[in-house]
This record gives sequence, C-alpha cells and structure tokens, in this order.
Amino acid sequence: MKPVLGNFMARSICIICGHEKKAPWQKCHECGFTPEDEVAFVKSVFLSTARFSDEDEADQERYAKELDVLGKRIQQGERITYDEKELDRLREERELYRSVPLSAVYGALFRFFLPGILLVAVLFAMLYVFRLPGILVVALLFTMLCLFRACR
Ligand SMILES: [Zn+2]
Repeated sequence: MKPVLGNFMARSICIICGHEKKAPWQKCHECGFTPEDEVAFVKSVFLSTARFSDEDEADQERYAKELDVLGKRIQQGERITYDEKELDRLREERELYRSVPLSAVYGALFRFFLPGILLVAVLFAMLYVFRLPGILVVALLFTMLCLFRACR
C-alpha cells in the first residue's frame, strides 16, 4: 500500500544528527542545523528520497527504509560515507537548476498572467474611466472573449 502523502514530501534525514525531517533543505528541529553551503546541501539531498525522481516510487520507498537505518547509525555517532559519484551527480543537477536565470522564470510567469492582467485593466477602465453601464461591459467582454476564441 502507498502512503497517502508519499509523493508530496521527500523523506530526509539530518546529515549532522540523523533525525528525520521532511525536506533536505529544511532546518533540523532536533539539532537546528540548516544545510546552507553547497556541500551540506548536496549531502542533505543525498540523505533524502529527493535523490530519486517522482517516477521512481519503488526506489524512493526502498531508499526511505535505508534512510531509517542510516539515520540510526548517524544518531549512534557513526560517520556516513557518501558515494562521491552520486554527490557529483547531485551537484550537477543543482547547478543545472540554478543556471536558469530568475528573470526567465519571472518572464514566463508574466507572459502566463498577462492576458488576465490586461482583462482586469480593460474591465477597470470601462467601468471607472469611461463609466459604461455594467451590462454593456459584460456584453463587450463576452464579445471580446468570443473573438479571442475565434482567433485561436
Ligand atoms: Zn539535526
């Protein structure tokens, strides 16, 4: 059986004290450690199910069990050896993700919401600037919507 919240939260353990937390980038409630630098962050992702993509549910579940064991070992003061190749892979993934400039993200968001923003602006202008009666505004909007759909 699949846990209901299984896909929504990555299981993760603190790289310092081994206690569980929901996501690798979170602050540990047990020892207060937050993975801020790159090394700590990559190691934190390593010790979480976020290492695997959402499609790899079987891998995620298998690794969640492994994390229980690893967490206990860290809690007992054992040092974990990290697979260097896997750390490199995670680091590369992180760089790929970071290399998308923020402006591109905002640009895409803006283009996505632009039609909505324009519609509200036109509506506002018709109602308050030109003081058109409400029913006329609705009729105009409806016509515009039909035209817009026809154009596509
Ligand atoms: Zn901790």
